[in-house]
Amino acid sequence: MSAVWQYFSVKSENDSVAHCNTCHAQVSRGGTEPGKFNTSNLIAHLKQHHKTLHEDFRKTTELKKQSSGNFKQPTLPETLAKRDKFPRDSKKALTLTEKICQFIVLDDQPLSVVSNTGFKRLIEHLEPRYVMPSRHYIVDKTIPQMHKEVKECIAMHLDKASGLSFTTDIWSSERDVESEPLYAVATLLDPRYKDKYFTNVETLRHAKAALKAAVLKVEE
Ligand SMILES: [Zn+2]
Repeated sequence: MSAVWQYFSVKSENDSVAHCNTCHAQVSRGGTEPGKFNTSNLIAHLKQHHKTLHEDFRKTTELKKQSSGNFKQPTLPETLAKRDKFPRDSKKALTLTEKICQFIVLDDQPLSVVSNTGFKRLIEHLEPRYVMPSRHYIVDKTIPQMHKEVKECIAMHLDKASGLSFTTDIWSSERDVESEPLYAVATLLDPRYKDKYFTNVETLRHAKAALKAAVLKVEE
């Protein structure tokens, strides 16, 4: 409550005005509903008509501000943080851990990102009830689970596929990150696939011969 109230009082029959205890003047509280009330007019009244009281009021308010400086009002994230943390195997925690793993996999992030200060702060701010899993947890539990799901998904597509097309590719990197530069890329053939480039049997035969020669050359 504002310190200004030691100089004013309110009568129950009309609470939209305050009575000055010193000169008994009626001062509007700034509105007709409690939600609109404020103390600006009361402070202005003191300042204009009772200079000494206003000076006292100003000093009291200043002291109050200084002493409350030691007590920091908790922010919303801090208040939420005080609530219970999600158990690690709760649906919410598992979903968040999975999303973090997707972030690591899809955006080529290092596993150590889960112990990076900035990333931890971001997640903590977004969801204070979530406990960031350790790198070991992600390696031992989450990534094997994701690997299993993706493998099952690919197996399902392979079951349904009418055919597979294999292509080889050579990868080169100046940074020498790859020790094995030869890749085989498998592409699922859609049953609706129509030959676009091999318009006749003769061109197809030539393409097969050229591919075979290239593969043999790689084998050498
Ligand atoms: Zn007055």
